[in-house]
Amino acid sequence: MTSTPLQPIASILIKRVFKWVILCVICFSSIQVWLNYNSIEKNFNATINDVANTHLPLLSVAIWDIEPQTIQKQIALMLKNTAIGFVTIKASTGQEFSGGNASLSTTGKHMVFNIPAPIQTDAAVGTMDLVVDRSILQQELIQNFVIVLIEVFLLAVLILFAVVAILRRDLERPMRQLATYVKNIQADQLSQQLDLDLPHTQSYSEINLVLDGFHTMQKSIQEHIRNQDALVLERTMQLEKAMESLKLLSITDGLTGCYNRLLFNERLPGEIYRSTRYERDLSIIFCDIDYFKKVNDKYGHSVGDKVLIAFAQCIKSELRAEIDWIVRYGGEEFIVVLPETSLKSAIDAAQRMCINVKEKLEVLIANGETLKITASFGVAQKNSKDNLDSLVERADQCLYIAKTGGRNQVQPKNHSPFLAYSK
Ligand code: GH3
Ligand code: MG
Ligand code: MG
Repeated sequence: MTSTPLQPIASILIKRVFKWVILCVICFSSIQVWLNYNSIEKNFNATINDVANTHLPLLSVAIWDIEPQTIQKQIALMLKNTAIGFVTIKASTGQEFSGGNASLSTTGKHMVFNIPAPIQTDAAVGTMDLVVDRSILQQELIQNFVIVLIEVFLLAVLILFAVVAILRRDLERPMRQLATYVKNIQADQLSQQLDLDLPHTQSYSEINLVLDGFHTMQKSIQEHIRNQDALVLERTMQLEKAMESLKLLSITDGLTGCYNRLLFNERLPGEIYRSTRYERDLSIIFCDIDYFKKVNDKYGHSVGDKVLIAFAQCIKSELRAEIDWIVRYGGEEFIVVLPETSLKSAIDAAQRMCINVKEKLEVLIANGETLKITASFGVAQKNSKDNLDSLVERADQCLYIAKTGGRNQVQPKNHSPFLAYSK
């Protein structure tokens, strides 16, 4: 972000306009003063000529008749005009009459007129020298200049004020609102409507254009964000589904659909903890297919796989939904976990499983023949000191007894033996 101090656009424009106004004031004032000067000077000269032409005939008669008093009277009358500072009448006889401010005769402008003879001859009876007081002319010029200057200046100031007010209202204020809105806007406030304090005119200016453009941009960004949100939601759901199936895959045995050893190691400690804490029963059944190696050897691995799938299905049919769970512990070995189950109930369940496997489990092999199998079961109930290994170990020992005891059976046969339940 730039650190240059903000200069309002209206102020910049006003400064420029002000310079031009000053220049115009000087030009117009100068032209006006020059025109006035010419006009005043012309009037001044005309006035002097009028005075002279009015008094010349009377002076002519007065000189001709040799009437000094009349001549002095005429001089006094002429001096009443403030533009005439000093008057000198020289008669052709050598007589001289004067009046007024003698000091002006050296500084003022001299206008000399011949005094014609009263009878029709070309000869003059004398001359009249009028000394014009130009300070009067100068005063009038200065006065005129000041008035012109004040008039033009006042007009310029008025126009300037009007321009300033209009620029502030129509340009600076909406621009400032727009800039403040854009500067402070946050990503989550994009829906916030931008309303500018525009003058109530019908005209559609660049400001309206910017405003409309901004609204369009706002809408398209919001639309884009909505699309992105929907896309992110969809992708998140897809990802969650993929994660779920991945998780399921990671804890499931691919062949039988039972949980795998990983899940068993993760979940059983929790079951043991809950059982101990709430003093609830927890039992497990270790199952192992009898002579499974022979099945593989005789019918091949694919038949062996079918047997494994059928066996898992048969055991699952005995489980309570959402309570019991089964794990493929390894090869043809499975462990069934029975929460909230005493040793006696677990033995009963194992016996039902044992009978089901023997009597109901049939696997179709070549030539329409069916293969029948049996399995052995070792049952153990968790005691207060058990952990995962010790519990599995005890169930395995029971399984071993079942195997060595002739297979196709459940051990212990009832819930008394120490191996299955020892406190
Ligand atoms: P016992 O009655 O003592 O349990 O004898 P058994 O033959 O069932 O046990 P043993 O441990 O000797 O043989 C288990 C066989 O299971 C060996 C192995 O080839 C087979 N096996 C392990 N996993 C699989 C599998 O995923 N598919 C198939 N088809 N066979 C498997
Ligand atoms: Mg076996
Ligand atoms: Mg085995």
